[in-house]
Amino acid sequence: MSTHDVIVVGAGIAGAATAFFLAERGANVALIEMSHPASGPTGRSSAVTHAFYLQSELSRLAIAGVGTLRRIPELTSEAPAHTECGMMWACGADSAPAWRAAAERITTEGSRIEPMSADELARQAPGIDLDGIALALWEEAYGYGDPYGATHALVKGARQRGATVYLNRKVTRLVQSSGRITGVETANGDKLSAPIVISAAGVWTKPLIAAQGYELPIHVERHIMAVLDGGGKARDFMPFSWCDDLLCNYARPDGDRVILAGVWAGGGTGIRNQTLARPEIVTDPDDYRAETDEDECLDSLSFLLPRFPRLAELGVRPGYAGLYDMSPDDNPIIGPVPGIDGLFVICGSSGHGFKLGAGVGEEVARLVTEGRSELLAPFRVDRFAA
Ligand SMILES: Cc1cc2nc3c(=O)[nH]c(=O)nc-3n(C[C@H](O)[C@H](O)[C@H](O)COP(=O)(O)OP(=O)(O)OC[C@H]3O[C@@H](n4cnc5c(N)ncnc54)[C@H](O)[C@@H]3O)c2cc1C
Repeated sequence: MSTHDVIVVGAGIAGAATAFFLAERGANVALIEMSHPASGPTGRSSAVTHAFYLQSELSRLAIAGVGTLRRIPELTSEAPAHTECGMMWACGADSAPAWRAAAERITTEGSRIEPMSADELARQAPGIDLDGIALALWEEAYGYGDPYGATHALVKGARQRGATVYLNRKVTRLVQSSGRITGVETANGDKLSAPIVISAAGVWTKPLIAAQGYELPIHVERHIMAVLDGGGKARDFMPFSWCDDLLCNYARPDGDRVILAGVWAGGGTGIRNQTLARPEIVTDPDDYRAETDEDECLDSLSFLLPRFPRLAELGVRPGYAGLYDMSPDDNPIIGPVPGIDGLFVICGSSGHGFKLGAGVGEEVARLVTEGRSELLAPFRVDRFAA
């Protein structure tokens, strides 16, 4: 039996970052992953980054999280894991006042967002159809991350700071005694003990915690990524990361090779549009359709093409599907699990947790070692109980 101060279950972006920041604070950490780092939804993420959120705590977690991604070379000696192609948003007249106010707030929180007129947007994105757009917001220092690279780098950084990393070890049971967590057991027969266990198991979280007698209000959805072939000039067609509140689409270039495109169903900005997004509910995350067919990709692209008609010139590559762990309010669920001392969860990232992940990990490390985190307070586990 090996003994640790803290055990973190799951090496997606959130678990990897949590282990990294706990190790940085001097804790004796074990990080346990059933496969390899970023093998779950993190590795399938389009990984668009931005600070724009209507809720201040989300903006501040994103600013911190992307700040860590930018510092990966100096923190871990690994390759850069963030590309600053800029992030462009567009909304209609109804949302414009709230979006403008959020942009002003975020500027005071340490991240620059410039309101942009529709004409300026047209200059940056030749061929764009401006129908309905009243306001664009431009975040120059954002764009997209490398989800594999970032997660592997944070795992390596955790190891460099003394964490023990167990790969290919599935946690089959969280062990508790008299209402207090005492450790975990794995399918390989390992027994690890610690007074604190943090479950960062993403779409696999619910049954793990239900076995401890606590039902988390999360469900799992399958979402499509369409992939366009940029023919070596993807950024001529999609120069920035993009999110369109009016037509419910988002996209980003991946270098000059391809453009990733999806349907935007809200993702924490408080705007849901599930009927348009057509998500499929998934009951077993180990048994879902990870591939897509052409019809699904064309359906997904039908949200984007009216805005960027020139994209119709590009070929469609095979797309893929990934899973979201959705909470009732589209926001993450983070903190101690009521009734089980020492057990914490990070879950419910609701399709927008990549950019938040490193910020969440930093704050969870603060919460566990200092007993409080102002930024995580709105995301506490028991907020749905009432
Ligand atoms: C198609 C797609 C596009 C997305 N686009 C964006 C985007 O543009 N921007 C953005 O910010 N977010 C985006 N997201 C969301 C984002 O990727 C996720 O919110 C985030 O990656 C979740 O990270 P996580 O660490 O919480 O969970 P996960 O990535 O699910 O990691 C959980 C890890 O835990 C491990 N695990 C689970 N159970 C066990 C166990 N019992 N024992 C040991 N290990 C276990 C898994 O193997 C996995 O590696 C997207 C997601 C998808 C699927």
